[in-house]
Amino acid sequence: MAKPLTDQDKRKQISVRGLAGVENVTDLKTNFNRHLHFTLVKDRNVATKRDYYFALANTVRDFLVGRWIRTQQHYYEKDPKRVYYLSLEFYMGRTLQNTMVNLALENACDEATYQLGLDMEELQDIEEDAGLGNGGLGRLAACFLDSMASLGLAAYGYGIRYEFGIFNQKIVDGWQVEEADDWLRYGNPWEKARPEYMRPVHYYGRVEHTAEGVKWVDTQVVLALPYDTPVPGYRNNIVNTMRLWSAKAPCDFNLKDFNVGGYIQAVLDRNLAENISRVLYPNDNFFEGKELRLKQEYFVVAATLQDIIRRFKASKFGSTEFVRLDLSTLPEKVAIQLNDTHPALAIPELMRTLVDIEKLDWDKAWDIVVRTCAYTNHTVLPEALERWPVDLFHNLLPRHLEIIYEINSRHLERIGKLYPGDLDRLRRMSLIEEVDGKKINMAHLCIVGSHAVNGVARIHSEIIKATNKTNGITPRRWLVMCNPGLAEVIAEENKMKFSAYLEEHYKVKINPNSMFDVQVKRIHEYKRQLLNCLHIITLYNRIKKDPKKSWTPRTIMIGGKAAPGYHTAKMIIKLITSIGDIVNNDPVVGDILKVIYLENYRVTLAEKASDLSEQISTAGTEASGTGNMKFMLNGALTIGTMDGANVEMAEEAGEENLFIFGMRVADVEAMDKIGYDAASYYNRLPELKQAMDQISGGFFSPGQPDLFGDLVNMLMQHDRFKVFADYEAYIKTQDRVSILYKDPKAWTKMVIHNIAGSGKFQRPHHFPVCREIWAWSQPGEDRRPRRPPLNLSSPLLLL
Ligand SMILES: *Cc1c(COP(=O)(O)O)cnc(C)c1O
Repeated sequence: MAKPLTDQDKRKQISVRGLAGVENVTDLKTNFNRHLHFTLVKDRNVATKRDYYFALANTVRDFLVGRWIRTQQHYYEKDPKRVYYLSLEFYMGRTLQNTMVNLALENACDEATYQLGLDMEELQDIEEDAGLGNGGLGRLAACFLDSMASLGLAAYGYGIRYEFGIFNQKIVDGWQVEEADDWLRYGNPWEKARPEYMRPVHYYGRVEHTAEGVKWVDTQVVLALPYDTPVPGYRNNIVNTMRLWSAKAPCDFNLKDFNVGGYIQAVLDRNLAENISRVLYPNDNFFEGKELRLKQEYFVVAATLQDIIRRFKASKFGSTEFVRLDLSTLPEKVAIQLNDTHPALAIPELMRTLVDIEKLDWDKAWDIVVRTCAYTNHTVLPEALERWPVDLFHNLLPRHLEIIYEINSRHLERIGKLYPGDLDRLRRMSLIEEVDGKKINMAHLCIVGSHAVNGVARIHSEIIKATNKTNGITPRRWLVMCNPGLAEVIAEENKMKFSAYLEEHYKVKINPNSMFDVQVKRIHEYKRQLLNCLHIITLYNRIKKDPKKSWTPRTIMIGGKAAPGYHTAKMIIKLITSIGDIVNNDPVVGDILKVIYLENYRVTLAEKASDLSEQISTAGTEASGTGNMKFMLNGALTIGTMDGANVEMAEEAGEENLFIFGMRVADVEAMDKIGYDAASYYNRLPELKQAMDQISGGFFSPGQPDLFGDLVNMLMQHDRFKVFADYEAYIKTQDRVSILYKDPKAWTKMVIHNIAGSGKFQRPHHFPVCREIWAWSQPGEDRRPRRPPLNLSSPLLLL
């Protein structure tokens, strides 16, 4: 185990985690008390834990303000090219610890709160997650903001300030139940409203073609009210801005119409306008063509583009006479990155601004748009691709529909000249599709309206034939913070901590010597939680057959949210919890095997430890995945298919250091040609047959034998993701995992190869040294043992 630290080691570590000097700590305490008094308006007799959290958050926030203002002044002076990252999701999680880490305040705050008789970790736990995202796509946006600030880029994140983020998941009788995520209830200390920069956003109305140009008239107006959140770089004094828009009804909303029920009703109806930023759509990798969602997409785009153009015109460069005339230099000063097609309306909206408002001619405007915009594709699943019905567009955004038609007509004319007579190509490449009704293909719009298209992992870029700008993660959040000692020690400690957490939250006894086998991600058929289920059942049946054998004990944890409207995903959760009920209560199994459903998986819960990371999607379906990288960085081994970023992880760590199994993309494609026959596997593999017969026979749902009938039917008759085809290889590979786990030396060696190979996925990756990783190499305890709280009635503390 770990050696005690020398004083020199301690000084080194403090210099890594931030100075805890006496003045620093004294100032922090003074400021904490000042905020408790003046901001929270409390004394220590009546202050709650939450008040203490807010006092600490405000104390830390104060360190951001000067840097934030200075960074923005610096950008004005230097006028660098600005990067605008447009996204419908920013899955930020908590802010306090990340801010302390990036500002090197963690040690000093820990000491100050300790001296005030408080436990900083307990206060951190009070912060609500900013859950403004569904999964990987939203978290990528958040990691990019951190990375761009750390690189010192003049970057801005633009999105929506949803009043309700991703729902909170409760598991009740084994079923998912959704609860509204009222994350702003107690206020958000990290945001600053900027009502002075409010912008109008127009909807509906009609288009007039006049001699002076095109006019969009008789529109309904909703105001976009910006809230700014600071985004600090890693110890570089940079603080960038994430600007999220909130919908606000104008003061005269509905009051001009005489066909409404008068004043009271008009005021009540303000909610209709303000609903635009009410709630995040909870679908991951699924397109739901709802008008409110289209309103949201236009809302962020319209407000953001006004802001971008205002800032360009107000910049030193943009305010010269020449630039004011034509905006043709916009692409030299502005890059707009579209996070999937969700903000694709930026393309027609920028055209509308340049042509209808700035009066540029079409070709010149189009050249500006293409050179300004770039698009990131996130998925190949057809059900995820945005295809908006033309009718919906015609009603809500009539001018944009005209512009899209014009873009399409010029695009098809070009294709027609390049490939004369190839009508099928024209149909395939058109922005307008005609399969049950006319629809706008937003991916096609993004591709023609951008100068760069990228996929998120090499394999994905090859599949969509785009350039290779791969996903990454920020090590400041995803390296389980402040890990001491060697890989083995890290794993031990984190597992003990996680066990304690599980025992407290789930009231289950965990065997900390068991292998922690974890699959956490959104519940989706393509991610194949069902394959994991079949492994669990197989293990269970084997243990029952021969309980005395020296099994490798496992604690299998599965977590993730199902989209509320995704019936199959909800049934998968019920199956997992039902298997858990049988396995966990079987005395023959004891603590050889436990199955835990991790309720309410979110950014904060993602910052935990495991031994084995399950990345088992059907090859060709997971564009990249980032969960895989987070676990690799934190010392887990991966069992996975050759899909998404797993391919590059295997390359970096050496394929022999991952547990790769199953079909490759080419195998899946070959199988699609001949047809996938689930029954053949079921008939050939007795353990698979037994597991399926148990599910369909009600073994896991006593009293309700048909409960999983639909799931069984899907797996046997129309499984798009070919679970059975990888079953045999998966089980054999899991057997190899169990054997290796019994040899801690060999296991740890593999872990080290993985951590060493994880650098490619850490963004930004050109820091001279990753300082946290440097801290790892120091032996011994880094985190001070928690001391007992001081006596609060001590006169010294009653300040
Ligand atoms: C990283 C992350 C994801 C993405 O996980 P994948 O395994 O790549 O699907 C989803 N949710 C949360 C909370 C995350 O932090």
